[in-house]
Amino acid sequence: MDGSWYNVLMTDCIFCKIVAGEIPSYKIYEDEKYLAFLDIMPWCEGHTLVIPKQHVQWVWDYENVGEYFEVVRKIAKHLGRVSGEEVVRSNIDGWEVPHAHIHVKPGKNNGMKGEQIAPEEMEKIRAKFTMLS
Ligand code: AMP
Ligand code: ZN
Repeated sequence: MDGSWYNVLMTDCIFCKIVAGEIPSYKIYEDEKYLAFLDIMPWCEGHTLVIPKQHVQWVWDYENVGEYFEVVRKIAKHLGRVSGEEVVRSNIDGWEVPHAHIHVKPGKNNGMKGEQIAPEEMEKIRAKFTMLS
């Protein structure tokens, strides 16, 4: 991909803006290369998106997808432990936001409606599930 296109994508990409701290998010995990934050339209308590900080459109475009999955595993196990749920679901869609992301959802059932909820409620959920110190 030519450099100018890359910059256009970076500028327009909402998840790149989250990585850059230009728009807020409910972060629960961060390291040098990856970030996890609560989905703004949650289907269940703890519905999380795990992304590489580097902009690529598809999970399958990311060079070190094995390392990425190790991070997703760590977060999925944590969500399972904190929620007390044995089942932790995960899916990869990506038709809405063109920046690689993996959904992680603790629990067998949704329990929420995929709609925005009050910021105070989001903050409570973030505090419950955070892996940040
Ligand atoms: P999809 O691309 O189909 O996997 O869906 C993108 C997901 O990103 C949806 O579940 C949205 O609710 C979520 N989403 C979109 N914008 C934000 C945001 N600013 N913060 C957190 N989650 C978001
Ligand atoms: Zn991006």
